[in-house]
Amino acid sequence: MPNTKYIFVTGGVTSSLGKGIISASLAKLLQARGFKTTIQKFDPYINVDPGTLNPYEHGECYVTEDGAETDLDLGHYERFLNVATSQANNVTTGRIYQSVIEKERRGEFLGKTVQVVPHITNEIKERMQLLGQTGEYDVVITEIGGTVGDIESLPYIEAVRQLRWELGEHNGLVIHLTLIPFLSAAGELKTKPTQHSVKTLMQSGINADVLVCRTEHDLSEELRDKLALFCNVKREAVIQSIDAPSIYDVPILMREERLDEVVLGKLALPKDQKLNLSQWSSFLHRLKNPKSNIKIGLIGKYVELQDSYKSILEAFIHAGVQNEVEVIVDSIHSEYIDATTIEKKIAHLDGVLVAPGFGSRGVEGKIDAIRYARENNIPFLGICLGMQMAVIEFARNVLGLKEANSIEMDDQTPHPVISLMEEQKAVIDKGGTMRLGAWKCSIFEGTIASNVYKTSEIMERHRHRYEFNDVYKKQLNDAGMIASGLNPDTDLVEIIEISNHPWFVGVQYHPEYKSTVVNPHPLFVAFVAACKKHSLNKNV
Ligand code: GLN
Repeated sequence: MPNTKYIFVTGGVTSSLGKGIISASLAKLLQARGFKTTIQKFDPYINVDPGTLNPYEHGECYVTEDGAETDLDLGHYERFLNVATSQANNVTTGRIYQSVIEKERRGEFLGKTVQVVPHITNEIKERMQLLGQTGEYDVVITEIGGTVGDIESLPYIEAVRQLRWELGEHNGLVIHLTLIPFLSAAGELKTKPTQHSVKTLMQSGINADVLVCRTEHDLSEELRDKLALFCNVKREAVIQSIDAPSIYDVPILMREERLDEVVLGKLALPKDQKLNLSQWSSFLHRLKNPKSNIKIGLIGKYVELQDSYKSILEAFIHAGVQNEVEVIVDSIHSEYIDATTIEKKIAHLDGVLVAPGFGSRGVEGKIDAIRYARENNIPFLGICLGMQMAVIEFARNVLGLKEANSIEMDDQTPHPVISLMEEQKAVIDKGGTMRLGAWKCSIFEGTIASNVYKTSEIMERHRHRYEFNDVYKKQLNDAGMIASGLNPDTDLVEIIEISNHPWFVGVQYHPEYKSTVVNPHPLFVAFVAACKKHSLNKNV
């Protein structure tokens, strides 16, 4: 049995405190000391995965190499650690129950009454240890979604209590993330909500080992003493997590608070390994010192909620750093784009990105934006639905197929330039049935794509049901929209581009999922470079 150490991260007081970022930052510090670390997220909702959730509910749905539709925190884990995650890294209550019920149907419980304790909690505990048991990791960090005290969280908290006891001293610990609100009228930081949430945790039999306190203002020494005394944690285990200019500052702030040392001490792991954060610090330095800025329009229909396009926004940050520019993202709601507003909304931009999406709401605005970018030589990147809309726009306005459409939007269109694959036609279930995960793509030489990737074969992650319709390939190609990347096994078109345009690329896959601090995605890097060039040309 490998001697993997387990860290559990719970949240108190409110949601959205950034457990994912704290977990990823701690993992980064442990990784920087040479410990092999992974992070997993347990979500207390009943959906089997977030794939069926509207982005307004839960932000972006992140997709892993193995095709799991997961919580967006897995994106942070990958971006921070540069290590791929998988289906095993994200578990929901729905999945736990599904698996327990399937076992019950197979008679695996031998006539016993199946109950939350022990059957659901056992299933949770098993899954909490799955990655640890591979022997690949020294430390597994498990983030428990939701807030302590929620009815939904109870089985998870109970599983953590049991597991910590079973693992024994120095093998498991609990970090509780809370909020220390600032009452401006009183000019004071308040510890009471934290005391209450720690007590709630205690009622479930868990004493937090480390308290990470989100705050807008520095915690005084007295306040830290008070928190330690009332919350039953060691003084050095009261960690301040002050609001940071960017999520990429958090590992450095956690280092300054010695979170890594406190954790290593409690897990009886050696503290003498050299901590190598030089690459991270250099990224941060470049992030804070851009030489210029560019403005890119992000056109989508979920723009009110920034979390809907999390990976795209982060990929822009990585690519901006690589290009020494600050990418200012102008989020533009596609429903509000039409002939009367287009000039005002798009003309000043250095680049246009049309986002992924589902359904017909707002697609005509996306098509108008693409037309504007194409006709006015503004760099363009279309992702998934954005690529499909670029094909439709070209078919309508260059080939003259006025009614060209995707059959997702109009199943009666006479020109289905985006259509449904044969194997998708019989699919009724919505969850987990799209083309998901990493697929190969071969790139033709002499194209923008081959210039970007500098290799002839790539693997990129997918999440879509509809595909480029091959019937129109030649016609589009002859008019200047070429297919520069194909799936080598099925010939499905994965990349399209326009030859007589400074930079116009559409991809059926999602490059944003693979961009990390260490490996900014080449497509985003090249797109931002093209936008930077556009901006310079504009200003001469
Ligand atoms: N709705 C489109 C499809 O299913 C695009 C999906 C996406 O943008 N992720 O093919």
